[in-house]
Amino acid sequence: MSSQLVITDLHGGPDGKNILQGLTLTIKSGEVHALMGPNGSGKSTLSHLLMGRPGYQVTSGTVTLDGVDILALPTWQRAQAGLFLGLQYPTEVPGVPVREMLMASLGARGGSQTAQGVSEVVGSEVRALMDAEADRIGFDRRFLDRPLNVGLSGGEKKRNETVQLAVLAPKIAILDEIDSGLDVDALRAVSRRVLEQARSGQVGVLAITHYQRLLDELTPDVVHVFVKGRIVASGGPELARELEKTGYEPYAVDDPADQATAKDPFSDIPF
Ligand code: ADP
Ligand code: MG
Repeated sequence: MSSQLVITDLHGGPDGKNILQGLTLTIKSGEVHALMGPNGSGKSTLSHLLMGRPGYQVTSGTVTLDGVDILALPTWQRAQAGLFLGLQYPTEVPGVPVREMLMASLGARGGSQTAQGVSEVVGSEVRALMDAEADRIGFDRRFLDRPLNVGLSGGEKKRNETVQLAVLAPKIAILDEIDSGLDVDALRAVSRRVLEQARSGQVGVLAITHYQRLLDELTPDVVHVFVKGRIVASGGPELARELEKTGYEPYAVDDPADQATAKDPFSDIPF
């Protein structure tokens, strides 16, 4: 089934601060959207608001996934509904191996499982799927049995998230700077896997980044320029290449506070 995430005029941020200033965006299955913006523009804030991170509040606007009001749900139900967030800084979870976490997640989502979680038969299938996905992107299988992300390098954490993404097969994946800490080989492996999933129509992707480098591998259908909490321009992949040259300067949003201190362009003209 085709899915869509519809974000309409979203405002909010940590402690109810309006870091997001009216974000509107629709992502459908099979589409790859890139959201590019300078540091501090609110990209991670968007991902936290979408997943319902504690301490973050939406002050206005709506978010629906296939018509379901996502903002009314606790985080785990958002995940169950089909939203996946790859964190910019994946959390280390001592005591919980990736395998167990994935089994529990799949079990909670319904399907052929027992009350305790995924049944034995399905469990062995999931196990094989995890191994296959780990091999596919060069993630050491042994890490699947170790506590989640504990002691992993930045690149390994991102590969780990890609295994989770592939196994969980969410409807919409938000990937916050999946390229940070990745070497070229890992970047390619991770991007190819995500792209395959998108191209097969399984998942819609919002790839948050501030580097063109990721988008050479994870080729987007649409690129959005995000400055000061809102989208100020959208276009094709060429927009990302243009940004590489110009930076975000041409998109600087006119802010009344900035204008108050700006130099009067006519002040040098003698009358
Ligand atoms: P980006 O991911 O685009 O670099 P962030 O969403 O992380 O930007 O941050 C956006 C803005 O919100 C920044 O100005 C940052 O300082 C501020 N911010 C982030 N987290 C908090 C917080 N917990 N409390 C207050 N301000 C925050
Ligand atoms: Mg960020």
